[in-house]
Amino acid sequence: MSHQPFENWIFTNGLTLEQHKALYEHLQSCERCKNLQNRLHSMENQMRTAAIIAPPAGFNQRWRASFAERLERQQRQQVRRLFLLLAAAILISFAITAATLLVSSSVEALLFSSVKTVLSTLMSFNQFLLFLLTLVRMLPPAIPIALWILLTSGVALAAVVWLVSLWRISTQGVYIQ
Ligand SMILES: [Zn+2]
Repeated sequence: MSHQPFENWIFTNGLTLEQHKALYEHLQSCERCKNLQNRLHSMENQMRTAAIIAPPAGFNQRWRASFAERLERQQRQQVRRLFLLLAAAILISFAITAATLLVSSSVEALLFSSVKTVLSTLMSFNQFLLFLLTLVRMLPPAIPIALWILLTSGVALAAVVWLVSLWRISTQGVYIQ
């Protein structure tokens, strides 16, 4: 029995209708070509299945979620560290101002302390601005605008209160003398 051209036709796409019919008839009676076709089909199936195999269900989402969580935790830590730094800077300048005002007994010293207070206020305000800038650069745009406004106005209010109390401390010092 001749297996040509049927063996070639098994691997050929786009056979004519007559070729299809002839191949079909040959395969009905030829075990060898039938086996060849079966092997080709199972190979094609395996390739198709291998291509479809995807990572385990939910893997992508889980990975993405854990990544976002890690990023968020990192950012929260950075913000907390910056707040701590700011608080420390405020406390230190407060302490310096208070100590200078308490210790000073002469007009010169008071003048000196006033200048120092103004300077340290300016410096702290500079630090505060730097802090705000860093915060703006660090916070993801995903943070709700409302929360943003709340945070910014809260920090600004705290800064104003702090500046006013600094000013009062320095003027009170002048009045005492
Ligand atoms: Zn054959």
